[in-house]
This record gives sequence, C-alpha cells and structure tokens, in this order.
Amino acid sequence: MLRDLPSVEAMLVALERRGALCELSRSVAAELVRGVLDEHRARVRAGDPVDVPAIERAVLDRIGAAGVRTLRPFLNASGILLHTNLGRAPLAEEARIAVQQASGASSVELNLETGRRGSRQDHLEPFLRDVTGGEAALVVNNNAAAVLLATSALAAGREVIVSRGEQVEIGGSFRMPDVVRASGAALVEVGTTNRTRLGDYEQALTPRTALLLKVHRSNFRVIGFTEETGVAPLAALGRQAGVPMFFDLGSGALLDVRRFGLENEPTVQQAIAAGADLVAFSGDKLLGGPQAGILVGKAALIAVLRRHPLARAMRLDKLGVAALAETLRLYRNPERAVQRIPIWRMLAAKPADLRARCDRLAAALRAAGPIAHVTITATQSEVGGGALPGLPLPSFGLRLRRDDLRPAAWAARLRSAATGVLVRLEDDALVADLRSLLPEDDEALRAALAS
Ligand SMILES: *Cc1c(COP(=O)(O)O)cnc(C)c1O
Repeated sequence: MLRDLPSVEAMLVALERRGALCELSRSVAAELVRGVLDEHRARVRAGDPVDVPAIERAVLDRIGAAGVRTLRPFLNASGILLHTNLGRAPLAEEARIAVQQASGASSVELNLETGRRGSRQDHLEPFLRDVTGGEAALVVNNNAAAVLLATSALAAGREVIVSRGEQVEIGGSFRMPDVVRASGAALVEVGTTNRTRLGDYEQALTPRTALLLKVHRSNFRVIGFTEETGVAPLAALGRQAGVPMFFDLGSGALLDVRRFGLENEPTVQQAIAAGADLVAFSGDKLLGGPQAGILVGKAALIAVLRRHPLARAMRLDKLGVAALAETLRLYRNPERAVQRIPIWRMLAAKPADLRARCDRLAAALRAAGPIAHVTITATQSEVGGGALPGLPLPSFGLRLRRDDLRPAAWAARLRSAATGVLVRLEDDALVADLRSLLPEDDEALRAALAS
C-alpha cells in the first residue's frame, strides 16, 4: 500500500497545475509536501488506506496556513480612540494619499532647486516651526527615540534631574527612566511621588547637571495632596543655571482639547511659550499622524541633536515623512485639522450624533433577520494611547447578544474576519462603541456584524 502513495514530485506537478504554488518556491513547497506524506505514511503503516484527495487537502491547508495574513485592516469599535494594539491614530485621508504617492520614487531627499541631495527634515520643519512657535525641529521614528536621542546628545556621562512623581512606564513594560539611562546619563531623582518643588530641582543642581527633565504624566494621575513644578519656573531656573530644560510631553496635542469640553492637556505651543528649551512628543497620539518622535525647541540644541549618529539610526522612513507632512499641513488651519484628522473628529463627535448612527445601524441589523438581539446603550469611551487618562467620554454603542454563541466566541470570530472588528466585552454582551469609529465606516461595521 505504501507504494500507492504519490511521490513528492507528482504532488508538486499536480499542485502547480492547479496554480496553488504561485506564492511559494519549489523547495519550500516540496518541504510542506514531504511533511504531509510522512504523516500519511505513518498512518498507512498503522492500517489506514491511502487517501490521495485527503493528502492534497492537507497540503493545500498547510500552504494556506503558512501564508496567512496576520496584519489586517480593522474596524475599531472598542471605544478606545487611540488603541495601541490597532496602531494608535488612524490617518487623515490626505495623509493616506500622500503615503500611497510616496511609496514609489519621491523627492524625499532631493533638493528641487539644486537637484542635489536634500534633507527629509525640510518637508516637516517649516510646518512644525509655524504651528508650535519653536525655533527649529527634528523628527525621528518615535517619541522614545526622540528622548533617547536628546539625552544621548545632551547629557551622556552627565546628570539629568527628574521628579520622582514623573517616572512614567509607557506600556509594553518600557519605562522612560530606563530609556534615559540607556543614553549613558545618570538620573538624579528629586522630590516625592506626590510633591516636587522648584527648590528640589535647585538643590540637586551640580556642575555635572546637563538637563532639567520634565515628563508629562500622560497615562496616570496623581490626586490629593500634590504639587508639581510647572514648565515656566523650571525653564527659568535652567536659564539661571545655564542648563537646558527638556520636556517629554508624550502626546503632543497641537490643539486645545478644552474646546471639546475636555480637561486640559498641555499643548506643544504652551510648552514652548512657557520657555521649554526642548520639547519631545509622539506623532501618532493626539497629533493624529503616523508613528514619529518630534523634537522642537532652541535651534542651537536641535543642531547638536541633528549631528549625533543616533539621529541617522532613528530617522523617520519616507512613508512616515509623507504622512506627517500632510497631517501637519492640515494644522495650518485648526478648523480644517478638526474636520479632517480622525482623532479630532472622534473627540468632537456629539453624543446625539453617535446615538443617531446607532439607531440607523440597529434598524439595518434588525431588518437583516433575527440573528442577534440588538439594543442601544449609553457608554463611555476613552482617549487611550497615553493621553487624558481616566477621562470618560460620553458615547453610544450597540449592545449585541446571540442565543447560539457566547459573547467571547463571537468577539473572537469578529477579530478573525478578513476585516477584523474590535468590540468590548461587557458581562453577557458585546458592545460596539461608535465614538472610536468614523461615520464612513458604519456600513463596513454593519456588513461585518451581519455576516
Ligand atoms: C507615549 C509616551 C512616550 C513614548 O512615545 P512613543 O511615540 O510611543 O515612542 C514617551 N513619553 C511619554 C510621556 C509618553 O506619553
């Protein structure tokens, strides 16, 4: 019976004829086929019949599984607006088009006037200067890199003073103090968890002090008996002592969030106006652009950073440059930024409008048939992505239940679809929160739920 098993070569020829091998090299395919044949041979020895169609099916399954796409588009109905697992800020249409265009040959480092080599920073720096009021700007591939570059270039082998109340862990168990230490600077911690005064910084100043560092408490709060030293007094102390004041702002809002009835999140403009010498922030949090780390501040400091070898090792890729340039362009008119940049559109959405979208979706789902119990629920979203922690945003969502499927199993199915859907699991139901989804994606959500 073993002689009835097809040869590896015969299997490959059959698969090739069916067009099943176009994504694989012959040697990789041969390896998969050999594996399946070995397993089948063992089964035949144990008494099973030779089943050629089953062998073919097993090979096709394995080819499919080996090439499965794990990076897929997702609909974010989680209610977390900047969801780290979903890549934080979704890009504005303008930025998406720019990425598409920049993916071929582009002028990313071509000086259009001279025809010689230019700098990719030139596409970004003018916008950043205009929007933030900083003298100069430098962009790298994320904010942790921006902090590492700044401390490496300005403080390696010397001391950085930071408050004990501003020791932030940013997620994935990475901690900003460790990032600073990796630069070769020594951290000098001052104050206590709840209170750090200007005098604490002043007493810690030595001839070895290279930076006064302030880190925004972007993802946690300290409440009760607290005191924090603001940017202005700290920057003034730095000027007196001849030590630059560096602010890791985290989110880097370029618009005042209070216009949406939210609590204050300091803007980059405010930090610069208050006298910070150097400010670092992310491109993909409240700015609403691609992953990037942005440094703005005094031209003399930026010039030092620009020359450091890490600036080259951390440079932003051309797709990020394209997306960030178009996102920043939108901020030249703040009204346009609010209308076009997804994170601001989500923050600006009115509960009544979210409720109306829920009504339309619920009606459409009920009309499709009695598959699920659909109701509308008032719920709370959050900004996420390390911004405005603990701040609930009023929202509306669909509450979904099925008699034939447990919520967790349904959520898993929604996650594994070609266009995935991320929902919240609440007690005995799924909740699809509409604040983290743009209205133009409602139809895709309906289709995903219906299927
Ligand atoms: C988010 C955050 C970072 C890290 O920024 P990435 O762009 O994710 O590297 C650093 N510091 C603070 C205060 C943050 O909130």
